[in-house]
Amino acid sequence: MEKLFLIPLVILLVSGLIFSGCAKPAPPPEKEKAAPAPAPSPEATLAELKVHLIDVGHGDAILIDLEDTQFLIDGGTEETSSDLVAYLNNYIDDGTLEGMLATHADFDHVGGFPAVLKAFKVEEIWHNGDDEAGAMAINAKTWTAFMAAIQAEGAKVHIGRRGDRFNFGELKFEILHPPESEEDIAEGRHGNCIVLRLSYGEVDFLFTGDAGKPTEAVMLDAGIVPDVEILKVGHHGGRDTSSAAFLAVAQPKVALISIDANNEYGCPHQECLDRLNQVGAKIYCTCAHGNVVVTTDGKSYTVQLEKEAPPLTTAPPLPTFVPALPPGVELDWSSMPIYEGAEETEKGDWRLPPPPPGEAWMWEEWRFYTCEDSAGDVADFYMTAMPDNGWEEMGIRPGLFGTEVMAFYTKDGGNEGAMLVIDTYEGKTIIALRRASKGE
Ligand SMILES: [Zn+2]
Ligand SMILES: [Zn+2]
Repeated sequence: MEKLFLIPLVILLVSGLIFSGCAKPAPPPEKEKAAPAPAPSPEATLAELKVHLIDVGHGDAILIDLEDTQFLIDGGTEETSSDLVAYLNNYIDDGTLEGMLATHADFDHVGGFPAVLKAFKVEEIWHNGDDEAGAMAINAKTWTAFMAAIQAEGAKVHIGRRGDRFNFGELKFEILHPPESEEDIAEGRHGNCIVLRLSYGEVDFLFTGDAGKPTEAVMLDAGIVPDVEILKVGHHGGRDTSSAAFLAVAQPKVALISIDANNEYGCPHQECLDRLNQVGAKIYCTCAHGNVVVTTDGKSYTVQLEKEAPPLTTAPPLPTFVPALPPGVELDWSSMPIYEGAEETEKGDWRLPPPPPGEAWMWEEWRFYTCEDSAGDVADFYMTAMPDNGWEEMGIRPGLFGTEVMAFYTKDGGNEGAMLVIDTYEGKTIIALRRASKGE
């Protein structure tokens, strides 16, 4: 019943440096698509493969390292891009990244790619086909920077669709989602996120980007969810991902989650951890274990942790939010009622605007972006105070993907305050905004 995601645009729009990249006149090599490779005999010993879940704070970046082949899935945010490049430098000896894949257009998955493209020669790039218009407004800048860097690179670019297969020696990749047909793409903002399977000998990995339950349902319907050893859990371990039905088929032994400690999103969520524990998966998260490296010879595998700690079973506590009001200012944040937001109503000074699906709309001085209809399980909302109206964001109460979302704003030197709540309640989306003035 829920799935909420609120991001103050103002913060996200601050980022967005465009890297020009350096034009490297390398002819792109041919893609090995669906190349039939003979199965290794059971006795054959494969070289050591290392899969690194790199700690990039809020975001995903996964390095697949096999001898002379390095392949990067997602690149974290622009903010952590120089750390990512430094990390990759330890494993890329020849200056070449054989392949790179962007699961989707979000800033926490492609923001670091321009820096990576600048630092290394990249031969092949896969992405999900998002364009600037397809990318959310908040991600347009990072996506545009990524596309510009690809252009400068001159790499061979592929739009990944279900059934695409490519191999690097014994590394066998297969794209399971999104399907070719637009109609079959899952609902929700992450409905066209790439889901990638990697098989190495008898060990299978599944990388799900930010895929959530709708994408899992589409794959289950198609009967293509593989039984895997290692699952990179979708959407940073939010409660909107890794359904029980999906896990019952995938049966991961190890679950990897990438998210920063003390994130305000409420990730990983206890419900997600419970479902993973239910199938016996050992859960490792960058938030608790730092960089996580899985090493395999194609038969068995081991997990190395940068920070030694037991596998995660309990969600870390949410950081406490303290509204940072200007000194001497006290606003009345009295207890918050919960209303259903289907109709515009007024109860006291609470206003509940109706959320029209799929478009940006304004209400008083506020702009809301609804990214999809909330008829399904997923409802994403973005809001910001209108520019030039003097509102200043004071903070967001933790709980995204978890419980309710609250954002606090002040204006006029703290004499006016506003509190915004987004939540679902009995299956209905709630948006409530309360304003108060000093001394009221
Ligand atoms: Zn995303
Ligand atoms: Zn993400």
